[in-house]
Amino acid sequence: AAIEAVEGARALNAVVHDTFEIARTQAAAADDVLRARGADAPDLCGIPLGIKDLFCTEGVPSQAGSRILEGFRPEYESTVTRQLWDQGAVMVGKLNMDEFAMGSSNETSTYGDAVNPWKAGEGDAALTPGGSSGGSAAAVAADLVLGATGTDTGGSIRQPAAFTGIVGLKPTYGRCSRWGIVAFASSLDQAGPMTKTVRDAAILGRAMMGHDPQDSTSADRAVPDLEAMLDGDVRGKVIGVPKEYRLDGMPGEIEALWAEGRRMLADAGAELRDITLPHTKYALPAYYVIAPAEASSNLARYDGVRYGRRAALDQGDGVTEMYEKTRAEGFGDEVQRRVMVGTYVLSAGFYDAYYNRARRVRTLIKKDFEDVFADGVDAILTPATPSAAFPLGSASGDPVQMYLNDVFTVTVNLAGLPGISVPAGLDARGLPLGLQLVGRPWEEGELLNLASAVE
Ligand code: GLN
Repeated sequence: AAIEAVEGARALNAVVHDTFEIARTQAAAADDVLRARGADAPDLCGIPLGIKDLFCTEGVPSQAGSRILEGFRPEYESTVTRQLWDQGAVMVGKLNMDEFAMGSSNETSTYGDAVNPWKAGEGDAALTPGGSSGGSAAAVAADLVLGATGTDTGGSIRQPAAFTGIVGLKPTYGRCSRWGIVAFASSLDQAGPMTKTVRDAAILGRAMMGHDPQDSTSADRAVPDLEAMLDGDVRGKVIGVPKEYRLDGMPGEIEALWAEGRRMLADAGAELRDITLPHTKYALPAYYVIAPAEASSNLARYDGVRYGRRAALDQGDGVTEMYEKTRAEGFGDEVQRRVMVGTYVLSAGFYDAYYNRARRVRTLIKKDFEDVFADGVDAILTPATPSAAFPLGSASGDPVQMYLNDVFTVTVNLAGLPGISVPAGLDARGLPLGLQLVGRPWEEGELLNLASAVE
């Protein structure tokens, strides 16, 4: 059924490499396990999933949405996807994404735009599913798969989840192994589940998490049974409402959604508390220094020799020309912009003024969160995005406008905290809107439980 759904929804451009042969083999194996073990079979046994193209999957094209990785078929499997297959999950295909996960609309992909299955009205412009995990969001929202993997460096799980009316969890930094996931900004990148419901996020998320000695930043901590923690009881929990997230010019419907979220949590017995996170306004500029700085270093490995594609060379071209031509034609505009910004902020004369300053801001942002958690706040409630999904093409010419999409989400990556986007209502045009909850480190279970109260 999942294969038929993918075939029937090619227009969404969510699946960029289908893996039906692998799916059939995995499904047959899952059938055997189910037959032998019945109710004792792992939760994910036989469940069709889509995998963001950023994850290396053995023998299967893994291009990170980039032309420069054309032809790259990894010889290894990422730890996260390996864990999913070990649980009996079935891979239906690789999913569209912004190139190297840089973007908020899935429009920087070498495969072309992914399309949001939601529409404002018949005949209206096609909408972005968000980015960078746009293909994952579209595939789950359109019921092509029961769940998908995403990655979130500055919001790339939570923003597309909000734009497509699904649930997206970014776990605590270090919860999921980054091994075998193409690196964007290593101190911010984190994998997580994208699903229709909070319960599914708990099940898929738990299967993705866990310690991995191959990733030195992976945490050696036990992962609790997240699903068992969904008892729906949020009485007495303290929910912080940060005034800095009330932006000038924020659409009224986002305000209204936020108020509705507060009401739902209060009705469920939680205590709402006004809080302040004073350095919030510096988060976006700090992020857009740190993320490109790390990206410029991580992307240095695409040199035309080790992975993927090499440009055609002219007689007399040397190694320098090979690098230049390969990178010029292999990387799209946004990726080149990030590499240039990154190398600039790391250059000898500007390192202190930009990179070091951004790192200091990051420490202050982290401390803002630590202070409110120390005051007894259990989680923080904000809108997930400053607007509903926008039409494809409407922001792609304006990088700064695109970056502003991440204003509510990047703080969470800078602080390394778990964050979740939950579908919480529709705007006046009938498009989905998401609320974000941010929790204490390692408290994904509590966060999911709170999320179930606003779902
Ligand atoms: N939109 C942000 C960026 O372009 C976040 C991307 C992400 O989380 N991967 O950097």
